[in-house]
Amino acid sequence: MIEFCLASGNAHKVAELQALARASGLSVRTRSAREFGGMPAVEEDTGTFVGNARKKAQALRARLPAEVWALADDSGVCVDALGGAPGVESAYYAGPVCDPAANLAKLVATMRGVPAVERRASFVCVLLAIGAGGEEFVAEGACHGRLLDEPRGGGGFGYDPIFVPDGCTASYAEISEGEKNRISHRARAWAQLADWIRAR
Ligand code: IMP
Repeated sequence: MIEFCLASGNAHKVAELQALARASGLSVRTRSAREFGGMPAVEEDTGTFVGNARKKAQALRARLPAEVWALADDSGVCVDALGGAPGVESAYYAGPVCDPAANLAKLVATMRGVPAVERRASFVCVLLAIGAGGEEFVAEGACHGRLLDEPRGGGGFGYDPIFVPDGCTASYAEISEGEKNRISHRARAWAQLADWIRAR
């Protein structure tokens, strides 16, 4: 049995990670940062997914008992035509206050008129676990696809309504939670974490 405390205040990410943990069939317990006084405020200023994930995990690690690993998720959408933006800045694309609707609207507006062949994008997720002795495991998953002209679908969160994964015609926000958790960037990172858990 391994216990993780999720270093995130994003309820959608937490729900997806909990669903992935359940579906893996592994002996894993995922606990909320709320049980340990909440997720400390962290400035996501390292410029990389791994660096930001490490900062979040380290900040929470300090609050945890020895048997509980801190597990952080840093993720975002990287658009080829924008040189990889918003990328690591995805949460703050439209300004310093995280506003998912404004972020989505800004990406739709920025990509307006960009032809179909130039709308390639990838979601990236880094999962980084830190144990009591400072030991680390880092996993990275990506899901490649393209951006729609206009948002479609009511599910998911963040940029989901504008992203269509390769092999699909529906957006991340139009597919079921179960389907997203089979193919997503987060699912691919989780699969590596699951291999590491099995090998321990
Ligand atoms: P951060 O990892 O806290 O820096 O925030 C990641 C940001 O990327 C979120 O605020 C979302 O805007 C976006 N993001 C990450 N994963 C997803 C996803 O699965 N769907 C939609 N948006 C996502």
